[in-house]
Amino acid sequence: MTDRVLVLNAGSSSLKYRLFDGTDPVTHGLVERIGEPGGDAADHAAALRAVLSGLDLSGLAAVGHRVVHGGAEFTAPTVVDDAVCAAVRRLIPLAPLHNPANLAGIEVARELLPDVPQVAVFDTAFHATMPEAVASYAIDVEVARRWRIRRYGFHGTSHAYVSRRTALLLGRPPAEINVISLHLGNGASACAVRGGRSVATSMGMSPLPGLVMGTRSGDIDPAVVFHLHRVGGLSVDEIDDLLNHEGGLRGLTGENDMRAILRRRKAGDRAAALAFDVYVTRVKEYVGGYLALLGRLNAISFTAGVGENSPAVRAAALDGLTGLGIAVDPDRNARGESVISPPHSPVTVCVVHTDEELEIAEQARQALR
Ligand code: AMP
Repeated sequence: MTDRVLVLNAGSSSLKYRLFDGTDPVTHGLVERIGEPGGDAADHAAALRAVLSGLDLSGLAAVGHRVVHGGAEFTAPTVVDDAVCAAVRRLIPLAPLHNPANLAGIEVARELLPDVPQVAVFDTAFHATMPEAVASYAIDVEVARRWRIRRYGFHGTSHAYVSRRTALLLGRPPAEINVISLHLGNGASACAVRGGRSVATSMGMSPLPGLVMGTRSGDIDPAVVFHLHRVGGLSVDEIDDLLNHEGGLRGLTGENDMRAILRRRKAGDRAAALAFDVYVTRVKEYVGGYLALLGRLNAISFTAGVGENSPAVRAAALDGLTGLGIAVDPDRNARGESVISPPHSPVTVCVVHTDEELEIAEQARQALR
């Protein structure tokens, strides 16, 4: 055993891990409520110590860390040293909820496994290939530069993996095909992939804009923020909470789980029916926009909790697009087959199971080569 990679995904109060032997998952687990009374561990160091003590780490080639924000600096998986840690720390203002925890995971792992290379794999990196015209916001260029305001995009690990799997399904090299990847989970984003490279994505400087999510609003007129503050008297923190934690499906229905919304919609609940319609309409807007950006489209792939499991969402999101060469076969869709478009469709519609941990393990190995 010489090709083991441990993948760590450190959240603010949790530590997810998965150990791979080559591409085979050996074991995985989750430490929860870190630092909370009655939680599994007092801090990230204690959590990782507990995890490591239970694992056979012989032949460990690397530890791969999920890091949410890599800013403009990190465009590829990166072997961690002091300078990388400092750079991830400097990016904290851009991802205040995620980067501190990701960094804690890295620092603890460096301390406990000093002889094993640590590799940071960034959610933003896959989108580094977006053209400036897509990445730039139309605001004062000096303000944007000073505060590093631009579109970065997230879910890059998933979009990279899914677009490659899609190429496999089509039996063609990634470099030859154009794909729209739809990651519809609790967080959700769309990505236009040309020849294996991201050319547009729906999240922005933060993971808030774009598609409707479990608790995030997705796209909204920024003037809503001024209005709620000046006229509604809400504080900036209250508005942040409203859009990030109380928005999306939860804002529209009180629940963030698509399964509950589908059940309520079936039972005739109007709020749930509207939430469903808002959700699929937003997906369709991005599909249309990205079709135009790409000019030529080979495949659309659905992935993550909603995308992999909801025939109703897949069918509604692509309904009425036959004129654009996009169609869903109802039987294949209901069975959740990996290809759900009718035979000989100009655009192949796929359902792909995403595996971000496996992709992180692969990228960690790649960074060491
Ligand atoms: P993820 O973030 O990829 O784990 O996706 C989680 C979300 O997927 C959940 O919050 C649910 O809304 C959704 N989900 C999971 N299973 C189903 C299902 N069978 N049908 C519809 N949505 C589902």
